Amino acid sequence: MSIVELKQVEKKYQNVHALHALDLSLNSGEVFGLFGHNGAGKTTVIKLILGLIEASGGQISVFGENPTHASAQQIRSKLGFLQENVSFYDHLTGLEVLEYFAELKGIAKKQCADLLAQVGLTLASKRRVRTYSKGMRQRLGLAQALLGKPKLLLLDEPTVGLDPIATREFYQSIDQLKKEGCSVVLCSHVLPGVEKYIDRALILGKGQQLAAGSIKELREQADLPATLQLHGVSTECIKEQLVKSTAPPQLAGLQKNIHSNSDGSVSLDVAMADRMDGIRYLSQLTQLQNLDVHLPSLEDLYGHFIANHLSHIGKPEVAL
Ligand code: ATP
Repeated sequence: MSIVELKQVEKKYQNVHALHALDLSLNSGEVFGLFGHNGAGKTTVIKLILGLIEASGGQISVFGENPTHASAQQIRSKLGFLQENVSFYDHLTGLEVLEYFAELKGIAKKQCADLLAQVGLTLASKRRVRTYSKGMRQRLGLAQALLGKPKLLLLDEPTVGLDPIATREFYQSIDQLKKEGCSVVLCSHVLPGVEKYIDRALILGKGQQLAAGSIKELREQADLPATLQLHGVSTECIKEQLVKSTAPPQLAGLQKNIHSNSDGSVSLDVAMADRMDGIRYLSQLTQLQNLDVHLPSLEDLYGHFIANHLSHIGKPEVAL
């Protein structure tokens, strides 16, 4: 059974059509990335899953229940939620804030100290939240979301305000939760570094699904080239090689796709399917010192699908 299932879900707010026929399914122990521009509908999806708002059409099930029904009360204890721009009672200490939420959730307070340790806030646990930096508040928000070992974690922009090390540690803790069987929906604008932690992604544009699948599937759908970055050779050197030794037919367009980089290296774009042929062919260059292969990143894929969408519908009016 899917942990979360959205079938042809529509959401209209007065005159804003926020979601159009959205399908989404989340399996146990899966980390699902939900990406989109401002106002694309990400927070709306999270609110629907939490049962905070009702869909205007379609079906939603969370742990097999309609989240807005009274009978869904018992699934709430399995959910953890970290909202965007988290805010707390500033005059309480970090520990007091967490104990307060533990009480609301009906969870033993004794796990609070461990959770604060898990998010690196032990030393600050007895300081008032008003003295916390933005990143520390975000960590406290994550500890709050992890109260009671949720089976489904909904994270809206969780790494905003976290420095690169804290961001990496955050994703490592998500990885650990996933290993323990927790399912995660993650909305983020901060794409670098995310891709190795997500199993599947959905890219939203103005409430519509633009693409969905694993990174591998998104790469196949986008059909963007791989980039081969060559060190130690010049553009001229590659052009000479193309004259000396004929490239295989699938690399015929190579010459048109050569770029010089500011660090002196040279990049060539080749179709993903032909990258191994490209590597073999270019490895014949005698001056070649190193060759790096760059596959389209999540950021490249996101940019591709959004740009495609915008070229059809025009720039969205964001967050109206
Ligand atoms: P962001 O990345 O900026 O947080 P988002 O992808 O989370 O954006 P949503 O907050 O889901 O986007 O909003 C989707 C659309 O629905 C936007 O056009 C927004 O203005 C609109 N919207 C959201 N909540 C309401 C509301 N309560 N009333 C009217 N319109 C709303």
